[in-house]
Amino acid sequence: MNLSDTFKHKGLRQQMVDHLRQHGINDEGVLRAMNEVPRHWFLDSALDSHAYDDRALKIGCEQTISHPSTVAIQSQLLALQPGMKVLEIGTGSGYQTAILCRMGAKVFTVERQKGLFDKTRRLLSDLRYNARCFLGDGYRGLAEVNYGPYDRIIVTCGAPEVPEALMAQLKVGGIMVIPLGNGEQEMLRITKHGDDRSLWQVEKFGTYSFVPMLNGKAMK
Ligand code: SAH
Repeated sequence: MNLSDTFKHKGLRQQMVDHLRQHGINDEGVLRAMNEVPRHWFLDSALDSHAYDDRALKIGCEQTISHPSTVAIQSQLLALQPGMKVLEIGTGSGYQTAILCRMGAKVFTVERQKGLFDKTRRLLSDLRYNARCFLGDGYRGLAEVNYGPYDRIIVTCGAPEVPEALMAQLKVGGIMVIPLGNGEQEMLRITKHGDDRSLWQVEKFGTYSFVPMLNGKAMK
């Protein structure tokens, strides 16, 4: 693994951040984290020259790392404060996880593909991001290990419905950011003002295209 971070990488990263700013990202914490975390470390070295393009890229196991603009909008919608407990569904490359850690969150992240889980857990630990990584089905959240409830939940795969178990693990007053739909998804921010469904405030933030959130047991 090549963990160099050259002037070229840094320059391209600054350009990426300028592009995000021009496209409406104004949370300075998000912009700072995205300027500091080298996205190319989360990609195969063959993709190095594209690491700072606003593109989704392949990360193996038929999965993709989200566009930088998608990572930025989801991170901004979370309205994070340092020290908050965040549950992430869909660890993938670990890039979004690293951004949340850099922003001072305590991150718990769940991935269902064993290959990605093993690789990314090792990478995040080598890079000293202290996220807790779990292999499992994110539909169920982290029901069996009692770290919740969470201040924030972020889903980074396209969910056909809002998983009940996840809403149950969100604190009252907490926020979930989730792309909802089959095929294309609408980005939703759900604020849980109370346990009753009638107290869940839903806001919509445009259309995105994610890999699907798959139901069922963790896969090899
Ligand atoms: N945040 C990631 C995005 C990866 S793509 C990144 O920045 O790289 C979405 C990930 O969600 C994939 O790795 C996929 O395997 C995972 N996923 C899909 N369904 C899931 C489920 N039910 N539970 C946990 N992870 C899931």
